Amino acid sequence: MMDKRPDITIVVPCYNEEAVLRLFHAELERIRALMAGASFEIILVDDGSQDNTLPILKELHQADPAVRYLSFSRNFGKEAALLAGLEAARGAYVAVMDADLQDPPALLPEMYQTVLSGNYDCAATRRVSRKGEPLIRSIFARVFYRLMSGISDARIVDGARDFRLMSRKMTDAILSLKEYNRFSKGIYSWVGFRTRWFEYENTERAAGVTKWSFRQLLLYSIDGITAFSTSPLIFASLAGIILCLVAFVMICVVVVKTILWGDPVAGYPSLMSVVLFIGGIQLFSVGILGNYLAKTYLETKNRPLYIITESSDG
Ligand code: UDP
Ligand code: MG
Repeated sequence: MMDKRPDITIVVPCYNEEAVLRLFHAELERIRALMAGASFEIILVDDGSQDNTLPILKELHQADPAVRYLSFSRNFGKEAALLAGLEAARGAYVAVMDADLQDPPALLPEMYQTVLSGNYDCAATRRVSRKGEPLIRSIFARVFYRLMSGISDARIVDGARDFRLMSRKMTDAILSLKEYNRFSKGIYSWVGFRTRWFEYENTERAAGVTKWSFRQLLLYSIDGITAFSTSPLIFASLAGIILCLVAFVMICVVVVKTILWGDPVAGYPSLMSVVLFIGGIQLFSVGILGNYLAKTYLETKNRPLYIITESSDG
């Protein structure tokens, strides 16, 4: 293999991307030709694809010495694929991008100039539009970014993509976060470093289909919140305190009423509503607690985040 450290490593998670991989590689070749001064290493991570992704990765590896690949024993998710790629990366700078050409490689030369200048450790990208995306998905995404920046200690820029180019320093910082519940967007922001943002219009994927259902995205966003914020736990305590106060006031009212006017017929409906309301809040709070406990449970197991069955390194 290459002994010299490449200038730029490009890490690409690939899950069932047979339709787009050759296109992606061709586009990347075009950009590489424009950046003739820089040497490249491309790490394609097959996240347990069921289609022809792996054979295509092997073919690309044969044809292009800059291409390396890793293949997982099953689908471990994009976060695991990113981590595996970052761990394998040897470049002085490391870029992360999707395989579907939604992250335009054409931005790479400018991003590289930015980090090379030494004024920034990271060139990151955000989408300024969500053209071509289902409306409901955009609305939920907005709500999520609002919520996240309100309650967590990792600020996430609205529309931020995983597409970015980072210095070795920042890459090593990211790798030093060993958590099992990985939420990359939060991690990038949490480690800090000087970041310059590049903006671009959303483009539809070049071929193939999205790997995320709405349900998966919703669960992913909840993961993101619990990974970077403990505010929901405070909500549980606050709700408890407020309910205690309400109950206290109600007790006073009932006592005074009974002393002044005696005891009229008890109100069954109001009693029922209160019981149900409090029961609901309790279950909700226990649910939040359980969620954090589950995360802790998974972290303490210390499982590997992915398992590699084969790779271009043998
Ligand atoms: N991906 C992955 N593992 C998964 C799901 C997705 O490695 O379990 C990769 C996928 O191959 C692509 C990137 O993550 O390179 C983004 O996926 P996709 O384009 O489907 O997401 P979207 O752009 O629709 O949010
Ligand atoms: Mg995509």
